[in-house]
Amino acid sequence: MAKLDYIEQWVATLKDEGVFRTLPVLEGPCDAHIRLGGRDIINLSSNNYLGLANHPRLKAAATEAIAQYGVGAGSVRTIVGNSILLERLESTLAAFKEEEAVICFQSGLNCNIGTIQAIVDKGDLIVSDALNHASIIDGVRLSKADKAVYRHNDMAHLEDILKTRRADYRNVLIITDGVFSMDGDLALLPDIVRLAKHYDALTYVDDAHGSGVLGRSGRGTVDHFGLHGEIDFIIGTLSKAIGVVGGYVATKQSVKDWLLHRARPLLFSTAPPPAATAATITAVEMLMESEAYTQKLWENARYFKAGLEKLGFDIGISQTPITPVMIGAEAQTMAFSKALLEAGVFVSGIVFPTVPKGRGRVRAMVSAAHTRDDLDQAIDVFAKVGKTLGVIA
Ligand SMILES: *Cc1c(COP(=O)(O)O)cnc(C)c1O
Repeated sequence: MAKLDYIEQWVATLKDEGVFRTLPVLEGPCDAHIRLGGRDIINLSSNNYLGLANHPRLKAAATEAIAQYGVGAGSVRTIVGNSILLERLESTLAAFKEEEAVICFQSGLNCNIGTIQAIVDKGDLIVSDALNHASIIDGVRLSKADKAVYRHNDMAHLEDILKTRRADYRNVLIITDGVFSMDGDLALLPDIVRLAKHYDALTYVDDAHGSGVLGRSGRGTVDHFGLHGEIDFIIGTLSKAIGVVGGYVATKQSVKDWLLHRARPLLFSTAPPPAATAATITAVEMLMESEAYTQKLWENARYFKAGLEKLGFDIGISQTPITPVMIGAEAQTMAFSKALLEAGVFVSGIVFPTVPKGRGRVRAMVSAAHTRDDLDQAIDVFAKVGKTLGVIA
C-alpha cells in the first residue's frame, strides 16, 4: 500500500457521503456581479458588504503604493517588515474605532490565533460562546488557559460558569463573536459587559461581521451598543466589509506593546503587502468621510429581506444584512443553491456540520454594490426556484 493511500481513502469517503466539492473559479473581480464559467452571475455570497473589493479608489491607492513601496514587505513586522503605511493604518483605525490603540495582523484568523494565546496563560480561564468562529476555537486551543463553553447567547449559562469558577482563576476572559455569521444574530454585549463587571472578567469581541456593517459608519457592534471603553479586546477584520485583507485588535497601548513582543503571527509571519495596507487605509478613510456606504448596505438588505419574506421564505432571526434562507434537509439545500446558480444567482448552501442537521440554509449576502435591479432579479429567481422545489407555495 502506497504511503498516502489513507488520504485517498479519506477523499473517497467524502465522495461517498456526497460532501466532496470543487471550488468555483472566478474569472474577474469580486463584485455585485461575478464572472463564472463564462457567465455573468449575480453574487450573493461574498463578505464584501460595502462593495469595496473592486472599488476604484482602493485600486488607485493600491497601485500607487506598489509604485512607491513595491509588492512585498520583505520581512516579519518585528524585523524590517514594519512601514509608515502600517503605522498609518493603525492610527487611522484607532481613530475610526475610537480606541486607544490598534495593532494589525495579516488576517482575522491570524489575529485570533496570535492574540488569544498571548493574553491568557496557565491559571486563567477562557469562557467562550458555543457558536464562536473557528479561528477563535483554534486560538483558544493554542492557549495554556483552561476553557469553558457556554450555550450560544445563553447569559444564564455564562453567569453560572462565572459564579462557580471565577474564584479558581487569576484572569477570566469572556470571548464572543459580535455578529454570528451563520444566523446573523448579535452577541448580547450589554449583558456580557454587566456580567464581566460583576465577576471581574475581561471581554473579547470578534467583530469580523460587525466591522463596516454595524454602528455609526460601520464602527462595529461595540459602537452599535454604545459600549466604547467597556470591551478589553475588540477584533476586526479588514477582509470583509473593508474589502481587502487583514485583521486587527483595537485595545489599550499596553496590550499592543505586549502583542508586538508575543503574538506569534507578528513574530513569525511576513507583514502584509503595501498594496493591501494602502487600500485598507483608503477604505477606512472613506467610511470616516461618509455614512453612505453603510446606509446603502442596510437599505439593500432591508429591501431584499422584505422581498423574500413576502414570498413566504423563512429568513431566520438575523439582525444584520446576513440573510439565511432556511431550506432544511442537506440534499434539498444543495439542490436549491444549484438551481439558483443555474438561474444566474450565486448563493452558497450551508449544511451540516457547519450548521445543525436538518437546519440547512442558503445564505444570501447582499452588498452596497447591488442595484435595485440586481435585487429584483435575485428575488424573482428565488421565487421561481422556491416554487419549483416546493420550499414556498
Ligand atoms: C471571517 C472571520 C474571521 C477571519 O477573518 P479573515 O480576515 O478572513 O481571516 C475571524 N473571525 C470571525 C468571527 C469571522 O467571521
